[in-house]
Amino acid sequence: MASSNGTRWRLSCDTCEASAWVGPAPVDAYDVWCEACQNAMRLEAPPVAGVRCVRCGAALPERSPRFVELWGELQNLDAVLGAWAGDASALVTLLPERPRFLTDLNPPASRDDDPAARRDVLEALTRGDWRAVLKAAPDGDARALSAHAIACERLGQSDAALAAWNAVLACGEDARARLARGALLARAGRFGDAASDLALAGDRFEARWNHAACRLHAAVLAGDGLPEPSELSRARAEAGEPSSYWSDPTVGRLVWSLLVERSLAPERGQRRDLAPGETIAERTRETLRAAEAEFEHTTFWDRSMIVAGWSRLGALDEAARVGAPLARELSTTLLGEPALSGPALLEVAAALATARSAMDLGDPVEARRAIAPALAREELRRFRIPCAACGRGTVGIEETAEAAGE
Ligand SMILES: [Zn+2]
Ligand SMILES: [Zn+2]
Repeated sequence: MASSNGTRWRLSCDTCEASAWVGPAPVDAYDVWCEACQNAMRLEAPPVAGVRCVRCGAALPERSPRFVELWGELQNLDAVLGAWAGDASALVTLLPERPRFLTDLNPPASRDDDPAARRDVLEALTRGDWRAVLKAAPDGDARALSAHAIACERLGQSDAALAAWNAVLACGEDARARLARGALLARAGRFGDAASDLALAGDRFEARWNHAACRLHAAVLAGDGLPEPSELSRARAEAGEPSSYWSDPTVGRLVWSLLVERSLAPERGQRRDLAPGETIAERTRETLRAAEAEFEHTTFWDRSMIVAGWSRLGALDEAARVGAPLARELSTTLLGEPALSGPALLEVAAALATARSAMDLGDPVEARRAIAPALAREELRRFRIPCAACGRGTVGIEETAEAAGE
């Protein structure tokens, strides 16, 4: 049996006796729980897309319980509606803070012939006791110096970390120290010095990414349009295959962020959202439209970055162009959630239908107002739904277990 089939979930009400298992059951069977009518049933195989509840006709969740996602989906929709309407703050809070320059702060390994004091320092670093590392007596060994540098970085002491990496490199060539020092120099805007270090930092992803990121930062700072196509393709070659994982950096994501920041703070080097009524220059608009095409992926996170950027720049027509279809898709997904077709969450389904009508009329403010009570519901916030059996309690995941026989 595939290992992905192995998880079982027990659902239960916090007020009455209602409970059910979801997941593989002994001997070619599968326990499911209809999130609409809240009845348990046993099937011969895990439900696939389109399989419906024999009691109420609602779609059955495939494998894992879906209702735990409801609040997160509502939160995403609310944030996109906000940005579409000109207030990107909720969406900006949801978007991941992707590191611009990557480093490696893993503790160095100790060796059997290390003196006790050095082993203590390396163990303190592994435990995360940064202050103990910094208090230790000086030790000229490259790993002890690396430990010192790492502790400084963990405590946010960049200058001291830079000095410590200098000391590590004075002992001899060290690819990790090159990577770490290169990342610190790049964060300080010293892209040329950073590139010299990164050239000696090996072929690992972090080193290649930092190269690409230095190139893109320098190009965006130097110009007033999109970086030259040759610079973009060099950065792509350095960064390698772009990851679609939501919080990983990619060339397209970084270029977009840098261009939005540059547009918000021309010359001044500090971020500033536009005042109401202020609009961006046509040149900025053209550049950012071109930058949209540089995104490698079309995930929720990528499209949300674009909506948030336009919204922060006060270009609400552009925010609507990207945000309206995204909000409609999110609402379609939500309205298709099995839990919303049951009696327990009728109010939420009705609110979403109202919101959807407002979206279709181009009114994100009204749509957001319609879903506000749903978003404020305490049980959804705790990843639970009202219990249909008692009408008073709420149902949530009580435990997660591995099925027997795996
Ligand atoms: Zn109950
Ligand atoms: Zn049902």
